Amino acid sequence: MDAPRNLLDLTPADARATISAWVTASGLPAYRARQVEARLWQRPVGAWTEAMELPVLLRDQLEAAFPLARLATGAVQQSTDGTQKFLWELADGEKVESVLIPTASRRTLCISSQAGCALGCTFCATGRMGFRRNLAAWEIVAQVREIILRNPDDKPTNIVFMGMGEPLLNWPAVDTALTILNAPEGLGIGARHITVSTVGIVPGMERLAARPEQFRLAISLHSPRADQRLAIMPIEKKYPLREVLAAAANFARRITFEYVLIAGRNDTDDDAAILASLARKLGAHVNLLPLHPGGDPALVPTDGRGIRSFRDRLLDHGVEAVVRRSRGLDIDAACGQLHVKMARREPQVR
Ligand code: SF4
Repeated sequence: MDAPRNLLDLTPADARATISAWVTASGLPAYRARQVEARLWQRPVGAWTEAMELPVLLRDQLEAAFPLARLATGAVQQSTDGTQKFLWELADGEKVESVLIPTASRRTLCISSQAGCALGCTFCATGRMGFRRNLAAWEIVAQVREIILRNPDDKPTNIVFMGMGEPLLNWPAVDTALTILNAPEGLGIGARHITVSTVGIVPGMERLAARPEQFRLAISLHSPRADQRLAIMPIEKKYPLREVLAAAANFARRITFEYVLIAGRNDTDDDAAILASLARKLGAHVNLLPLHPGGDPALVPTDGRGIRSFRDRLLDHGVEAVVRRSRGLDIDAACGQLHVKMARREPQVR
């Protein structure tokens, strides 16, 4: 007997080919392949035993040949503002997070691409955790699948790779995950509704740009000056701002700059003016983000008035800028916060 295979780790095209070959080799009618395929992403089931349209014998055979890999739910937190945060436990004990943010018109899911992160941005809770490992493609997309299994009405309309990890340092898995998220036989989420957020991993930006789909790119800029950026983002040493901006100029699709406002570090009028000139050159929008707790305790958030005045400076310079509301502050919804909190709790639980 062949070893069990994980169909959820394959692109929908590869999964279809694998299922079709198996259905043929098992002497089953061809329509069974379509029924099986539909249960991976389009009408997902948690286990083959739940696919009631299939004969019992076939369900048992599928459990043996293609068991459906799952993420265990470690914790779920619900904010008073509707934001939900999920802590997933992986088979080897690692933990990653996703955050589901509903608004009137969309449900955005922020997903993780790595357990921990090697890049050590000083303002980030995940950065303080260090790198644990890359996620497999199925572990990335399973964050969406598990939410659909819990409640099909919660299926996200938008995906952002802004959870734990740097997606472009896990390109092979993220590449496959993007295909599964976008393909009509996969989750069918439009490419314009899928945003990859990077600190500026230049080779990864080039790979993403080479894909034909209109995936969005967000660059975690956080400072328009190389020296200032280096102080809060060590990656500036390897991929300097000027190279990141040059790669962004080649992207030829809509770009967003993410910008966490930190008092006295990156929030002066001059910072706003330089940021505006960079954004104008690329036609980039700017998302201004309040600093969440969990990073270096020495960093202080810019206050509300400072954030609004920074935004107004950008608008004065003709740059589209919005202040992203803090969501789920009561549930540690920023990247890495829940993981850090649960890790602190673990000894007490034991
Ligand atoms: S902000 Fe992103 S890249 Fe930087 S440490 Fe956190 S997870 Fe890593």
